[in-house]
Amino acid sequence: ASLEFDAAAFGEQHIARGIGRLTKHVFEEGQGTFVTTDKGVRLLDMTSGIGVVNLGHCHPKVSAAAAAQCSKLTHAQINIGYSAAQIALLQELIPILPHPSLDSVFLWNSGAEAVEAAVKLARAATKKPNIIVMQGSYHGRTNATASLTRSKTIYGEGHGPLMSGVFATAFPYYSQFGGTTPETSTEELVNQSLLQLKLTLQQQTSPSDTAAILLEPVLGEGGYVPAPPAFLQGLRKICDEHNILLIIDEVQSGMGRTGQMFFIEESGVRPDVLIFAKGIANGFPLSGIAGSKKLMDLQKPGSMGGTYAGNAVSCAAAKAVIETFREEKILDNVAARSKQLFGFLNELKASGTKAGSLIEDVRGRGLMVGVQFPNPQLQAGSANTAAREANWQGQLAPKVVQECVNRNMLLLSTSVFDVLRFIPPLTISEEELSQACSIFKESLEAVAK
Ligand code: PMP
Repeated sequence: ASLEFDAAAFGEQHIARGIGRLTKHVFEEGQGTFVTTDKGVRLLDMTSGIGVVNLGHCHPKVSAAAAAQCSKLTHAQINIGYSAAQIALLQELIPILPHPSLDSVFLWNSGAEAVEAAVKLARAATKKPNIIVMQGSYHGRTNATASLTRSKTIYGEGHGPLMSGVFATAFPYYSQFGGTTPETSTEELVNQSLLQLKLTLQQQTSPSDTAAILLEPVLGEGGYVPAPPAFLQGLRKICDEHNILLIIDEVQSGMGRTGQMFFIEESGVRPDVLIFAKGIANGFPLSGIAGSKKLMDLQKPGSMGGTYAGNAVSCAAAKAVIETFREEKILDNVAARSKQLFGFLNELKASGTKAGSLIEDVRGRGLMVGVQFPNPQLQAGSANTAAREANWQGQLAPKVVQECVNRNMLLLSTSVFDVLRFIPPLTISEEELSQACSIFKESLEAVAK
């Protein structure tokens, strides 16, 4: 037996079992699109640490800004005074928010904390208790956000009672309905979903009890499904009719991920509250909500806060992130690489090969791309029956992920609907993405055998 210290075995012994983990790798370094383990294994990262290092691992400008802040002031507690680092960030951030009405911000640390802040704000501002979320949603794993999360039962199972007052309605995702397929028209899916919402407001939580509708404009953990503009516009209309706030969670879809700074821009819809996190500081913990000053002023002073909220080092990093988007024209790269990735995946799907026939749907925006496999257990009676039968033995996505990991590429799956998600750094080069596509193809072929 080796006398060398086995860090993974130490982790197994001493790190909480409640964490699900894709690999047993121990990561030591990251640069751009690659991470390296303690054993010197170099892996191509198509996860960006779940959509966080949008500018790649250890982007030099972001790391330098954080390092500079580290020797200046690390902790400027927001309940004690203003933080210069935070104010400098907000001067950059407010102009890139997706609507001019979003001019007041509260910064926190994690996505889940920001979602909780949005719920508190909605309840305080409307003086109404209930929140409507989407089936398939993911908003976090704290007590309140586990209640708002409806992608898989594991996040709440055995942990109740969770926060009350949460009602789930349908997202326009074909897998969510019986008898619909990737070919079902967007119009029909939108109509079905808006009808479900109207019924939710008649049967489950009346408008006079409903503070907010909260959703991810691109369903993330629930299957990587972009909401059609007509659905978002329909929600806006219903919210306006009933004095319900529209809260848009762009924790994963924001910060350039979908080819625009925030996905909601595509629909032109005004969110009452926008939630952001993940990519905002490229790996430093930072999250927040934005709303109009009129709305945010309805919170009483003292009701919001947190020791590390809007940490100075994270704020300095986030300011560098926004500057880098401008200076390096990151969104141009997202457009080019998105075209490359969609081109490859759609070609593979249409190739007539056994591997290609396993792909049921390719969807997403920018570099937030989902590949859905057929799952007959959940989608009986619709199109692509032969492929669905072939997949009957269980989910394909975890098998493909494992084949990718065996070939030193990190890739994640989502949801109960057997979907893979590509979320590479937005700085990924053409060659790196070609390499990822080759590994994916080999992995799919290995599973299709
Ligand atoms: N909302 C969305 C859309 C997310 O994707 C996530 C994290 N995956 C969260 C909220 C929770 O963020 P955090 O893990 O930082 O608490």
